[in-house]
Amino acid sequence: MKSVRQLSCRVIWNHRFFDIVNNMILPIYTFGQPVLRAVAEDITPDYPNLKELVKNMYDTMHHAEGIGLAAPQIGLAIRVVVVDLDVISEDLPEYKGFLRTYINGHIIEEGEETDVMDEGCLSLPGIHESVRRATKIHVQYLDEDMNPHDEWVEGYLARVIQHEFDHLEGHVFVDHVGPLRKKMIKSKLINMMKGNFRCAYKVKVNIK
Ligand SMILES: [Zn+2]
Repeated sequence: MKSVRQLSCRVIWNHRFFDIVNNMILPIYTFGQPVLRAVAEDITPDYPNLKELVKNMYDTMHHAEGIGLAAPQIGLAIRVVVVDLDVISEDLPEYKGFLRTYINGHIIEEGEETDVMDEGCLSLPGIHESVRRATKIHVQYLDEDMNPHDEWVEGYLARVIQHEFDHLEGHVFVDHVGPLRKKMIKSKLINMMKGNFRCAYKVKVNIK
């Protein structure tokens, strides 16, 4: 997930330094790539080079100044997600030091209450739209060491998880946008599929 607009400037400063270090930056697959519409599969603990993959996902997310990244966004239809909310902890101090890896994550249940917030996505550069989501969700996942977790999550993290786990179901955030707004961004989406957009990080574009 791309950080919301009002937070993005600070995120840029926090992560400019990551480029200097020798990190593996993977291209981010953008809207139109079939892998973003695939349902991702659970993995087994012996998935090859999992630790390295997770590190590369963090590096890629930081390089692109994102706060969440799902494996389909780097071309892999597997249920691996990384989240870094530390970068917004000046605005939301409860997330100081919050970096978490979600493996084989699933949303089990959603609370009834919802709210609306602006969202952006590293796979849809330049697009920000309001999305209504549940404020509280019940999730199950494995951490990086394959320890199981079962918890209710709320607040901003609940929104980020819903955005990222949507990627695991083959959905992107603009799928939640109403018909009128969708009509208004249609040409942007078509241009994106053709590769006609500007972006500060490495991407893999679907060119037909
Ligand atoms: Zn996204």
